Order: sequence, then C-alpha cells, then structure tokens
Amino acid sequence: MHLEHDPAMRDAQRSAPDPTAELRKADATRHRRVTADGLAARFGGRWVEVSGGPESRASDREAATAAALTEGHDFIWGATLPRDPRSGRRGTIDLLVRSGAGYVPVLVVRHKVTDPGTGARTSPLAELDHVGGRPDSARKVRPQPRDQLRLAHTRRLLQAAGFADERSAFAGVIGMDGDAVVWHDLQAPTWPGGRTALAEYDSRFADRIAVATAAATGTPALAEPSRIVECRSCPWWPVCEDALVKTRDVSLVVRGEDAGMLRSAGVTSVDALAGIDPYDTDVPLVGMPVADAVGLARAWLADLTVVRRTQTIDVPRADVEVDVDMESFGDAGAYLWGVLLSGADIGEPRGYRAFVSWEPLPTDDEARSFAEFWRWLTGARKAAADRGLTFRAYCYNELAENRWLLASAKRFAGFPGVPRKREITQFIESDEWFDLFGSVREHFLCSQGKGLKTIAPVAGFAWRDPEAGGENSMRWYRDAVGLDGDEPVLPQRTRLLEYNEDDVRATAALRAWMTSPAVHDIPYVGDI
Ligand code: SF4
Repeated sequence: MHLEHDPAMRDAQRSAPDPTAELRKADATRHRRVTADGLAARFGGRWVEVSGGPESRASDREAATAAALTEGHDFIWGATLPRDPRSGRRGTIDLLVRSGAGYVPVLVVRHKVTDPGTGARTSPLAELDHVGGRPDSARKVRPQPRDQLRLAHTRRLLQAAGFADERSAFAGVIGMDGDAVVWHDLQAPTWPGGRTALAEYDSRFADRIAVATAAATGTPALAEPSRIVECRSCPWWPVCEDALVKTRDVSLVVRGEDAGMLRSAGVTSVDALAGIDPYDTDVPLVGMPVADAVGLARAWLADLTVVRRTQTIDVPRADVEVDVDMESFGDAGAYLWGVLLSGADIGEPRGYRAFVSWEPLPTDDEARSFAEFWRWLTGARKAAADRGLTFRAYCYNELAENRWLLASAKRFAGFPGVPRKREITQFIESDEWFDLFGSVREHFLCSQGKGLKTIAPVAGFAWRDPEAGGENSMRWYRDAVGLDGDEPVLPQRTRLLEYNEDDVRATAALRAWMTSPAVHDIPYVGDI
C-alpha cells in the first residue's frame, strides 16, 4: 500500500511477475469460466453476464453492472461495482445473487472452502438463490480469511450503491469442488477475539487508507519493509531489499514474526543480532532457536552462504542408491519421474533414466509413466534385497515427491501397474526413502535459503542450463507439450530431461560431499 501510493516510487524497478503465480491465476480464470458457463446453462434467462471484453473500460463495466442491478436480474456474472467516491472503494466480484430487495456477493475460487465435518451453511448449485442455505451434515467451513475479506469489501460497495440485502449479511463462495455454495455470515463473531468479518475488514481498510494517504501526501510513512515469505513473489522486492540491506535489517536473516519479536526486544540490525550471546538472552523466537538466528547473522556478516551447524555430519548411505526427482505442472499432474542409479551392481544399467509422459496434462498417460516408474523402483529394491545389498532412495524435500506419489496412486487407482496407496505409504515411511533436505536443515545454517540450487553449488555441483529452475521449467513444459494448442517444441523436452537429470545428479553430489572430508572446509558456526 505504501509503495503503490508513494509518488517517488512511480518509476521504481520491480520484479517480473512470478510465473508460478501467473500459472495459478490462469488456472483460476479457467475454473471460473467453466463454473460460469455451467451456471449460465442451468439458469438460462435468469443469468446475465456484464464483464465485457478484455478491452472494455472500467467505467463502461461499472455502468453495465449498475444497469443490470437496476433491471433486477436474478444472477449477475462478472460485476464491476460502481465505485464509492466517499470511501474510494472500487472492485469486482464474480457473481451477484438477487436476495430480497438487494443482492449478495458470491466468489468462485479454485481452492478448498470446506473440510469434512458439519456446520457449514450450504446450498446446492441448483439452489444458488437460496441465500444462507441450510446446515450441512457433511461439511465444515474452511475459514479462508482472504475470501471473507473480499466478500466484506463487496458488501460495503453494494451498501454504498444502495443494492445490499440489509436483512442479513450472507455472502457465498463456490470452491474448487464447484458443487455447492458455502455461505458466510459476515456479521457473525467468527474471527479471533469475537470480531466479525465486516469489523475486521473495516479496521484493515481504515489502516490501508491511512498507509496510502501517508505515502501519497509525504507525511511520515506508516509502513516499512520487513522480509516475509511473500517477498519472494512480490514485485516490490528489489526496492525493499535495497532498503533492508541499507539498514542491515534483522529480517534479512530471520523471517516474519521473529523479526518483529527481535525488533520489540531492541534488536533491529543483523549486527546487533550477531552480537547476542545466545546462551544468555531471553529473546523468544518462534521460527528457529536463538542460537541459529545468531549463527545466521554471523554468517551473513562474514559473507558466508553456508555454515556448519554441527561438528559432525551424518547422512545414511547404502550399497545401492537411487536419487529421485519429480517434475509437476501446477496442480495438473506429475509428468516426469527421474531416477539416478548408482552403487553396487543389481543387473540394471547405472545412471539416469526418466519415466515421462509428453501428452499435455491432465492426461491418463500420466498413469502409464507413473506405473513404469514405480515398477522400476520396486524392481531395483527387490534386486538389491535379493543380492543381500542395502538400498536407499534419496530426494530433496520429500513434500513434493510424497504429495505426487500419494496423489498419483489415488487418482490412477485401478490403472495397470499403479500401486495401492498403502504400498506407497509403506515405502515413504521406510528407511529406504530418505529426504536429504532434512539433513541439510539439521547440519547447516544457510543465509540464502536451503534450496537445492543454493546448497548443491556449495558441494561443487553446477547445472548445465544456466536458466535451470522450477519456474522456468513450467514455461519449458508449456512449450514442450504445446499446452496452449501450439506445435510441441521438441528441444524443450530435451531441456526438461537434462534439467531433471541435473537435479538428481545434484542430490547425488550433495550426499557424496556431505559424507566426505571436504564438508569440514565449511566453517563451523561456533568458530565464527
Ligand atoms: S517485498 Fe516484501 S516487504 Fe516489500 S512490499 Fe513486498 S511483501 Fe512487503
């Protein structure tokens, strides 16, 4: 809010849009379109769409929405509400549903809005105009605060335009499953401290207006940068990073809440944090032990990317070793499982191989490549066991691999060669599956993050492709399979395979280095 309203920032350099976020946005747009088309077909003449084309001006869309509201259509899709000159509010909403003498807002989102349980108020889509719904015996609400705040914003706009249903403050969300509307009562005390969604929204809105006004008028700033997880995908990061480095801000080495706690304790800079005796301080941190925070501050000052957190380093090895890396495309599927076999002979060629589907996701061909991968892995484990050899498969940050191992078994249950979920769970929980990320977290402090692309170069590994990275791989995938209906670009397939191969070679290099004497060249945190 501050940067966007500070006139001095008008020409400031910003980061390019985050490709992963862009992908998610495109997926969400598609999801909304499919939902709208289904509802339009269901409700026929009761449904009107006012969104206009991509070229239409906001003022035209506002006028079209105002006309649709006045005409009293039952369902208005793609509304741009008339802006409220008194508050400065403006905004769009997916759907307005006629209710009493006014309207209620409904959002269409591509995330889960309920969990199994009871107590949510829902209406089936066929009864979309049954505002407030009835208690659902199979679902409980996932609060999704951002959804509720967006709905509260629209309610205030509707009130300003004189089109709110003042008998109640219900607002709906149609989630990823798209089979029902979940109704939130924006006046119910469901927020922390017994606040309502509307009260929370009003207070945040007032805060934002104050921040924006201070920025626009040049009075002392009411907001300052502090590094948080969201900075990674924020376009303002170049500006904020510059400011944080200038003041050597403590958030450069600890994140979010911990930076706030340190500032409250008077520790505002990396230098001050580095000077703390971790064994003689009562500064409480939630994200990491104080000793690690101090170690990271000292590493940052010494310009070290990585320091050893422990005197000795232990990574379990095996006679037969396999490094595994999976490539997925958003939530659409896992199209590539790459493996690198090394160690004792088990009658299989050593080296890299890939199990891949080049049919654009989503596709059942993914079941075929997943089944082939699983058959190979199971075969390698058995071949090692038959020879009396120990076996271990390694990955880097098992969250992604585990998610897709389990999801693939579930989605493709019954396809030839696809294992049961129980079989996957047994493997994941066994000693034969090892997450190297856990070892890095245990044994190192990394001032630039613990991603494989950061830590493997410390072990002497380099990717062949200078642009290798998860975000770029998404773009390459689009081209490789012709996702947008274009001709597939075959060299991008080679590029993805080399990228995946280098990822598994990186984990192999990392564990070899972590179990070699060379790892002791990395300074121990107690010595800096
Ligand atoms: S880069 Fe981080 S601190 Fe700066 S505006 Fe974005 S989220 Fe806020």
